[in-house]
Amino acid sequence: MVFELLRSTISNLVDKIKYRSLSEEELDRILNDTLLDLVSADVAYEVAEHLVTSVKRSLVGLKVERGSRVDQIVVDTLRKKLLELLNRGQFDLVSLAKSKCLKGDPYVIVFFGVNGVGKTTTIAKIAYLFKRSGFTPILAAADTFRAGAQEQLEVHASRLSVPLIKGRYGADPASVAHDAIEYAKSRGFCVVLVDTAGRMHVDSDLMNEMKKIVRVAKPDLRVLVVDALTGSDAVEQARRFNEEIGIDAIIVAKVDADVKGGSIISVVAATGKPVIYLGVGQSYEDLEVFNPVDYVNTILGLKT
Ligand code: GDP
Repeated sequence: MVFELLRSTISNLVDKIKYRSLSEEELDRILNDTLLDLVSADVAYEVAEHLVTSVKRSLVGLKVERGSRVDQIVVDTLRKKLLELLNRGQFDLVSLAKSKCLKGDPYVIVFFGVNGVGKTTTIAKIAYLFKRSGFTPILAAADTFRAGAQEQLEVHASRLSVPLIKGRYGADPASVAHDAIEYAKSRGFCVVLVDTAGRMHVDSDLMNEMKKIVRVAKPDLRVLVVDALTGSDAVEQARRFNEEIGIDAIIVAKVDADVKGGSIISVVAATGKPVIYLGVGQSYEDLEVFNPVDYVNTILGLKT
């Protein structure tokens, strides 16, 4: 089941401290176990520590009779802390594109992400979302070094019947983005989705290439795609891309296969940027708007 590990960590905690009859040492021991379990479920250490400390604070000094139930307090504390972290505003891409287009310019989104995380599939899903909303986006294949990358995007472009702008092999990726934006402007297209190269995030040439694309394309939105299944790697990528290039939002892919569940929390904590969509499968419809309340209710075992 999706997010199984995070859900069971929290339900174990709630079960163990259902009644206020624990000594402080017992409480500390339970919370320490929870801390380790949260980290195993891909919750970043600092966030896990903040959550257990908050739970402890909410219980210590609580004026309730020994033996009375306190599980609601634990759940409420976790809910409040998680929502404080995850509520970072929403981006309604279609409305944003609509208003930019009314001013006469296309809405430009540049996508970043390490190879294999699901970036190309995610771009295709976003293209599908725009098409369904009545906008035909232009795809820009600005990964000019990996031949396969352009071909992969071309397959999606033809399936979705959307134009694709690509460059010669080895051409300047920033010029491909520029050409796509000019093409959109001259023909009245409202949306440009720019794919970029995805070599390792520790590659400084890659970061310079990305910075140049951003300087040239002046995107309205810089989106990082990460893979939910990669845990601390996803966090490291988020931190690095945000520090080097600056990102505005994150899409977490492969959530449908994520039994741990904590990556979403950790990438937000590492960057302060919102998760806006979740990839939940391999087909074009498998993209969900990320709703922090639903996510938190799910991991706390509450009805959504
Ligand atoms: P890229 O190298 O980052 O462009 O990654 P791709 O878009 O080629 O995706 C890599 C693999 O992940 C492909 O097999 C995709 O079908 C798969 N994939 C992408 N997004 C999702 C998702 O949300 N869920 C699942 N289960 N698989 C996905």
